[in-house]
Amino acid sequence: MESGIHLVNRPDSQERFSTANPATGEPLSDYSVASAADVFAAVAQVRQAQLWWSRLPQIRRSAVLRRVAQLLNDRKDSLARVITSESGKPLQEALLSDVMVAADAAVFCADNAAVVMRSERIPHDNPALRFKRGRLSWEPLGVIGVIAPWNYPLSIPAADVFAALATGNAVVLKPSELTPETALELERVVSAALDAEGLGALPRPFQVVTGLGPTGQALIASDIDKLVFTGSVPTGRRVAVACAERLLPVILELGGKDAMIVLRDADLDTASSAAVWGSMMNAGQTCISVERCYVHRSVYSTFLARCLDKISKLKVGDGATPDTDVGPLISFKQLQIVDHQVEEARALGAIVHTGGTPMPQLGSNFYSPTLITDVESSMSLMTEETFGPVLPVVPFSTDEEAIALANASEFGLAASVWGRTAHATAVARQIAAGTVLVNDLISGFAVSAAPHGGLKQSGIGRTHGLLGLQEMIRPRYLDVDLLPRMKKLWWYPYSGLFAPMAAFMDFVHAPGLGRRLAALLRTIPMLLIRRR
Ligand code: NDP
Repeated sequence: MESGIHLVNRPDSQERFSTANPATGEPLSDYSVASAADVFAAVAQVRQAQLWWSRLPQIRRSAVLRRVAQLLNDRKDSLARVITSESGKPLQEALLSDVMVAADAAVFCADNAAVVMRSERIPHDNPALRFKRGRLSWEPLGVIGVIAPWNYPLSIPAADVFAALATGNAVVLKPSELTPETALELERVVSAALDAEGLGALPRPFQVVTGLGPTGQALIASDIDKLVFTGSVPTGRRVAVACAERLLPVILELGGKDAMIVLRDADLDTASSAAVWGSMMNAGQTCISVERCYVHRSVYSTFLARCLDKISKLKVGDGATPDTDVGPLISFKQLQIVDHQVEEARALGAIVHTGGTPMPQLGSNFYSPTLITDVESSMSLMTEETFGPVLPVVPFSTDEEAIALANASEFGLAASVWGRTAHATAVARQIAAGTVLVNDLISGFAVSAAPHGGLKQSGIGRTHGLLGLQEMIRPRYLDVDLLPRMKKLWWYPYSGLFAPMAAFMDFVHAPGLGRRLAALLRTIPMLLIRRR
């Protein structure tokens, strides 16, 4: 399964790690651990490639990305299978939330890189500075480092890689140690697109370095110009400190504890289906999954009954089996964290209506879809990220109470509000989160033009959309003087300068045309005397 083209599986690499299918435990493949030297070499190589890549006309870079989208579509079946084998998610989710989101992102970046890189004339307002022409232009940052998690092993890194490449950067990606093959597939797709566009003989502007946490640390220490990190809050905090040490700009896409608010006028059948899907898809291992569901007291029991009915019909199993709705968790360690949160809540008085147990009969990583009520806001189930298929439901009495409950979190990634459109939109405007959806959830991530990112502990900066493209470029202001042989009046000597400049300032800023003209008449003779 190893690729011959990527740097880190060089035969001389000593340390290796292996992957396993989270549903079956079956070993998948093993990979080299990229050493710091390997990472530095990869960054140096793509930096060389960035020279030609950034000089390529935008239209050709966009053509490569469109080709990438086409190849993702051509290879969607095999890609979905690789993603499912590494992450455990159902094939349908691998297709829709990874492969299709990635293909959409490639097309969006191809279409919009030129938009964010368009240069513009900068006007000079002060009359003293009028004999100049200013232009703001944009250039790529250079080399972007991307560190990615396992839960969306294709769509998360792909959106960042495409935004970086589209704007003329080179990229080195360090994927999660749990999903390296998906990242190598992405590398193969980009390489194939470069080949197809007649650029295959040139050095590659995108490389993957496989490895463990220290490989990510090496990437932060390497000669990159910016880092895009997606992962947990604890790792994100360590990454932020490491970046701060070397003043490396960084985007942090971290965890969430997303609230779903079901108002009294919500369509309960739709909202209950959404709550079940939004909390259970990818076995609840989605940064923007429903983690706290607040329901108006008047519809609470009906909503609960509908959720219970829908959860009881879910099929748990291997994501590669066509009728599976909920796959395994990524690891036994992850299952223990979820189980601990549920058990702690139960011990403190929460009621588990269904689920709430591991399913060892299916495999070590399966957890039963869980509906839980009577939870307190102090329980870890309600404060910490729950990466598992668990839906906690809490009643509320007024909109104000629901808004306060939703906002009482250290996180602020996404949220959703359900109800009649005007009512739900008014509530949505008061929710402190990077993305708030009305009568839908999670799909904001799939809108390639929409920015993605969080408030508070959920992160810094944005990926996706025009804002995501803008994160990959830096401004250059170029100013050309139209009177190159004229010394400026405000240069040395300062002797005799204050009075004419004060009069000139009156000319620019004094109230009333009369006072300004008078100031101009005072300024001119003083400046003429000074020029002699
Ligand atoms: P982790 O924080 O454990 O790991 C994320 C990445 O960082 C992995 O590639 C990991 O490598 C690497 N890494 C680990 N230690 C370091 C280090 N010291 N320096 C640099 N890199 C390091 O997250 P998970 O992979 O478990 O992903 C799940 C988390 O990601 C959840 O909290 C989820 O909410 C969040 N997430 C956020 C999203 C968002 O957009 N806001 C989207 C998706 C997920 P390795 O795997 O080899 O340890």
